[in-house]
Amino acid sequence: MNFNDNNPLQRLIALLAKLPGLGPRSARRVVLSLMKKPEATLRPLAHALIEVADNMKSCAACGNLDTQDPCHICDDARRDRSMICVIEDVGDLWAMERSGIYRGLYHVLGGTLSALDGVGPDQLRIASLVRRIAESKQTTPVHEVILALNATLEGQTTAHYVAEQIGSSGISITRLAHGLPVGGELDYLDDGTLTAAFTARQKAS
Ligand SMILES: [Zn+2]
Repeated sequence: MNFNDNNPLQRLIALLAKLPGLGPRSARRVVLSLMKKPEATLRPLAHALIEVADNMKSCAACGNLDTQDPCHICDDARRDRSMICVIEDVGDLWAMERSGIYRGLYHVLGGTLSALDGVGPDQLRIASLVRRIAESKQTTPVHEVILALNATLEGQTTAHYVAEQIGSSGISITRLAHGLPVGGELDYLDDGTLTAAFTARQKAS
């Protein structure tokens, strides 16, 4: 089949092909599969995409991406507000949630410090974390901050910097146990490994 750029099918395939984990071949397979069951898959997918696109919000408190602000986690009265788990990005938050090990709140930094990529503290949500911890004293004080950053050089440098900024005034600062593979990113860990690293978390020195 010969497509040109004005062809909606070609446009759809080209858009899907840019997504992580997909390429042109997978994108074509996805589109073909969707078109074979338009009512069961294609139309519900289109609606779900529009609904998320129209309602997507970044949580002002924690930086999570959701369809409401505050996000479903910050808004959940059953979560333990005395714990904040600091992660690099929303994918890591989802990994923690999948493991089911953690019932506290999160704080998404939005990346890691990287001199190479020109990412300094101001580009990350570090100041808002420090502010959040300070403000928590008026309601439910934060007792533990878990630095669940990736086991990369940048992740560990960032963890060290964040720990310094928080200081130690009555707050336990912990980090995930070794056992995280070096260079390991949370999102790629199986749930068992992540759970073990979380359970055996250690005081950050
Ligand atoms: Zn939130």
